[in-house]
Amino acid sequence: MDSDLLVIGGGITGMMAALHLAEAGARVRIVDAGENAGTWANAGSLHVQMQSRFMRLYPDQVPAVEASLPLYKAAAEEWVRLDALYGPFELVRKGGLMLAEGAEQLRFLEGKARREEARGLSVEMLDRAALDGIAPWLGPQILGAELCRDEGKLNPLMANARLLAELDRRGVARVQDRIIGLEQQTNGLVAVGRAAVYRADQIIIASAWGAGDIVRGLGVDIPTKAEPLHMNITEAAAVSIGHLIQHAERSITLKQLGQGQIVIGGGWPAQDRGRETPPAVLAGSFLGNVALAARLVPQIGGLRVIRTWAGMNTTADGASTIGRLPQASRVVMALPGDAGYTLGPLVAKMAAAVTLGAMPEADMVRYTPARFAA
Ligand SMILES: Cc1cc2nc3c(=O)[nH]c(=O)nc-3n(C[C@H](O)[C@H](O)[C@H](O)COP(=O)(O)OP(=O)(O)OC[C@H]3O[C@@H](n4cnc5c(N)ncnc54)[C@H](O)[C@@H]3O)c2cc1C
Repeated sequence: MDSDLLVIGGGITGMMAALHLAEAGARVRIVDAGENAGTWANAGSLHVQMQSRFMRLYPDQVPAVEASLPLYKAAAEEWVRLDALYGPFELVRKGGLMLAEGAEQLRFLEGKARREEARGLSVEMLDRAALDGIAPWLGPQILGAELCRDEGKLNPLMANARLLAELDRRGVARVQDRIIGLEQQTNGLVAVGRAAVYRADQIIIASAWGAGDIVRGLGVDIPTKAEPLHMNITEAAAVSIGHLIQHAERSITLKQLGQGQIVIGGGWPAQDRGRETPPAVLAGSFLGNVALAARLVPQIGGLRVIRTWAGMNTTADGASTIGRLPQASRVVMALPGDAGYTLGPLVAKMAAAVTLGAMPEADMVRYTPARFAA
């Protein structure tokens, strides 16, 4: 199958890259394995401040995330633009609260806020009295919080459905297949799939946890790893929660959708069952996650959980990977860093601009795939 541009991976990053390329007039095809996309399992938090969970689990990757903070802020703004163009996605950008239950957690947040402010984020520390004004439903033990005004939330099911419809409207071809290797030829590239062979002038790789395997044959070692994570959603709540809620030490994200349901996640583990099968829910994650949510917001403690699921996140070195491979310049990487649903559309836009020759790679040297060769 021939196209001008082939996008491998049909999650949020691949969809948005294809949309930009099609808008520029290119003949674009997406080939996607149809397995374990984080895009169809995620919580819809628009993350901007550094997540305490990530800082605790991956301390070695914190410098890369911290240096990328302006990208997160711009990525949340890109979602606002997309919501206006293709929405509504139930996008609300009221900010995110990271809660402290003890003095040490408050000190941690104060230090984090200073670092984030230095990178241009709109953050401030709120004491309990200030919190009572905007979030009176918080548990009595909450002492204060960091508010990051750049953060927000959306309904990913709505956003994904509307963006898919836009791809169809633009005539972007979508094929289900798993790519098992890439070959460079004199006049282009060939991606070898299980079902077919795909020829294109350039290939954009937006296949998240699957990206490392695809480029290994070209002599590139991008350490993408799959990370199975847990999610819950409750029935609709009477309480009204406008902010994205996180915790200074414990793993949690909590937010309310437009219809009132509470989406609870934040990185509790699930059981890996390989790349071709979705991860399995772990009872310990289910119970621990909802118990923590009920402690932080006691009013939701009596709600029924209506669905629980697990999905596949991707980690590498913390930062996004955007740009041409030094070993194969017709291959453009489009891999968002941590909180990839937030970053996906902006990463896709930058990768599409590189592909079209509309953005100098020097402008995104922090994200270059060349860092893995080094
Ligand atoms: C439970 C959970 C909750 C999350 N919550 C949030 C959140 O609230 N906010 C946030 O910002 N992020 C969140 N994330 C992370 C986010 O979902 C992902 O980082 C993001 O969706 C990645 O998008 P992507 O398009 O780059 O990749 P994906 O959506 O993972 O899509 C990659 C696609 O590539 C395909 N693929 C892989 N290998 C191949 C191959 N060889 N050939 C063809 N296709 C291939 C896969 O089948 C998949 O469809 C969450 C993740 C999980 C799992």
